[in-house]
Amino acid sequence: MKILVAVKRVIDYNVKVRVKADNSGVETANVKMSMNPFCEIAVEEAVRLKEKGVASEIVVVSIGPQQAQETLRTALALGADRAVLIKTDADVEPLAVSKLLKEVVAKESPEMVILGKQTIDGDNNQTGQMLAALLDWPQGTFASEVVVEGGAVKVTREIDGGLETVNLSLPAVVTTDLRLNEPRFAKLPDIMKAKKKPLEEVAPADLGVDVAPRVTTLKVEPPAVREAGIKVESVAELVEKLKNEAKVI
Ligand code: AMP
Repeated sequence: MKILVAVKRVIDYNVKVRVKADNSGVETANVKMSMNPFCEIAVEEAVRLKEKGVASEIVVVSIGPQQAQETLRTALALGADRAVLIKTDADVEPLAVSKLLKEVVAKESPEMVILGKQTIDGDNNQTGQMLAALLDWPQGTFASEVVVEGGAVKVTREIDGGLETVNLSLPAVVTTDLRLNEPRFAKLPDIMKAKKKPLEEVAPADLGVDVAPRVTTLKVEPPAVREAGIKVESVAELVEKLKNEAKVI
């Protein structure tokens, strides 16, 4: 079974994001970038399925600038076999990402596409769902367990009220939640080997997809700064302040 995994290069989750002075977006110059954490979990799941003998090949795909090659090389070091970079400097919206992925699916014919449930930069939580709709494939989103059995995949989903288990016939789209697995770290010999693995580059136009944005960002603002707290001398004073100043009790 061939698995396609979509990985996005985003600002590293440890970086304190700064808003640009003109409020047009966030600062990405000279900022550490890494693989989106939910995409790391997607790669790890595909690698585990390959180690179990369920998957035979893992193809990773990223839509982004030249530097997204580094993200793809990381995925190759973690165990993916081949990579495809759809190179663009544009900020590609979820619908366009889904259309591009649909074209890659048409070319590669995977039996499963694994995506992160969400990117930590756009916080969209849309791409997997849109891709499933465009392909007319079943989807298992927010997966915390994935079991492939005889032409189907059983996905346990993290939902508000608890866990839901769905059975999807393959081919299917799966998106990963935080508790699905704990991604491994790439070992140095694997990082060296990854440099020799195939990485194909294509442009969105080669796939016939228009990636022009449909949404205009009007303004980006940092969250309001929290006011400093105060120390109270007694419980009575605390209750008095909660009642009369904060007016919460
Ligand atoms: P989103 O809908 O933007 O929150 O993204 C959900 C998932 O879609 C991500 O975790 C990735 O697996 C995939 N994805 C989104 N944008 C890209 C991109 N530019 N390149 C590759 N995969 C992407």
